[in-house]
Amino acid sequence: MGKDYYKILGVSRNATKDEIKRAYRRLAKKYHPDLNPDNKKEAEEKFKEISEAYEVLMDDKKREIYDRYGEEGLKGTVFGGEGFTWDDFTHFSDLHDIFGDFFDSFFGGSDFFSSFFGERGRRRENRGRDILVSTEISLEDVLTGVDKEITVKTYVECPACHGTGAASEDAIETCPKCHGTGQIRITKNMGFFQSVTIVPCDMCGGTGKIIKEKCPVCGGTGRILKKKRYTVHIPPGIEDGMRLRLAGKGEMPKNGTPGDLFVEVHIKNEDGYYRDGKTLYKDLKIDFPTAVLGGNMEIESIDGKVNVKIPAGTQYGDEIVVRGRGLPPLHGGRRGDLILKIKIQIPKKITKRQRELIEKLAEEMSSSYHKKFRIRR
Ligand SMILES: [Zn+2]
Ligand SMILES: [Zn+2]
Repeated sequence: MGKDYYKILGVSRNATKDEIKRAYRRLAKKYHPDLNPDNKKEAEEKFKEISEAYEVLMDDKKREIYDRYGEEGLKGTVFGGEGFTWDDFTHFSDLHDIFGDFFDSFFGGSDFFSSFFGERGRRRENRGRDILVSTEISLEDVLTGVDKEITVKTYVECPACHGTGAASEDAIETCPKCHGTGQIRITKNMGFFQSVTIVPCDMCGGTGKIIKEKCPVCGGTGRILKKKRYTVHIPPGIEDGMRLRLAGKGEMPKNGTPGDLFVEVHIKNEDGYYRDGKTLYKDLKIDFPTAVLGGNMEIESIDGKVNVKIPAGTQYGDEIVVRGRGLPPLHGGRRGDLILKIKIQIPKKITKRQRELIEKLAEEMSSSYHKKFRIRR
C-alpha cells in the first residue's frame, strides 16, 4: 500500500487542511535538518517524507488519487515514475512562514537545500559575489530579538540606469544578431546529420541587448561602488554563529544580478553565563552559613532581579532551577530555564571573633569526626 501519509503527519484520515497544516508546521520544526545536526541524515529523510505527505494531502486532487490508489497511484501521474522529489514540492512559501527570516539563511547555507538552490544559481547567468559581515549582540538581544544596523561598502545597482548601463531607455536596442535571445545557433552539416550548437551571442555578449549610449554615472557597467546601510532583524533565540541572508544585497557584478549579503551573528558573553540552546547556566556563589541554613537571595538574571530560595543544606555543585528565566527557542515558544550552579565560598581571611565562633562550632559539630581522623589545630 506504500506510505501512509496520514500516519506520517499524525492526522486522521478525514483531517481538515487546517489540521494538516498545523501538523506539518510542528513536524517541520522538529525535523529541519539544520536543527538536527546530530542526526542530519535521518532528519533529512523525515523532513522530505513529511513534505511529501503535506504536498499530497493539501491538494484535493492529489489527495483523492492517493485515497483511492495509495502512494503507487501517484507515481508517474502526479509525481515522476520514481515518486516524490523536491521538484514536486509547491509549498515553499509555507516553509517561509514557518521558519521566517531563517528560511533564507537555512536555504542559503544548508547542504540539504543546495540541490534546488544550486539549480536556481545556475540559471542566474552572471551573479555577483556574496558578502559576509558579522555583528555582535548581547544575551538580552537574544531574549527579545533586535534590529541591527549593518554597513557594507560594495558594488550596488547604478541608481541612474537601474543596472541597465544605458544612458536612457531609448539607448537600449535589441541585439540584431541574436534578436534579443543572447544565444546563437551554429549549425554544421556532417554528411546526413546536422549538428546544432548553441553559444552565447558574440555581438551582445549574451545579454541580448546593445547599448548605443552608455550611462554616464556608471560608465555602462550598471553598478557603482557605494556604502550601504541595512537594518537586519535578528530574531529571538538565535544561536551564536548563525547566518542571516539578505537576498540580492550582495555585490552587483557588471551586467548581472547581485549576490547575497550574509550577516553572521555573534553573541557577547559578559556576565558569566553559559548557554545550551534555550537553557542558561550561571555560577552562584553563596557563603557557608547560607548553605547550611538556607535563605532567600535576590540575584540578577538577564531580564531583571529574581528571588531565589536556597534550601537549607545546599551542597557545593547543587543546581537551583529558575523556571522560565532562560532564553526563548529559535522559532518561538516557551522560554528555557536559568540554572544556578552553587559554589560555596570559603573565606580566606577571618576576624578574631569569627575564628573563635568557628572554633566553637567545630567543637560542637565534629568532636567524633575530629577524634576519628585525629584532626588537630
Ligand atoms: Zn548607470
Ligand atoms: Zn546578441
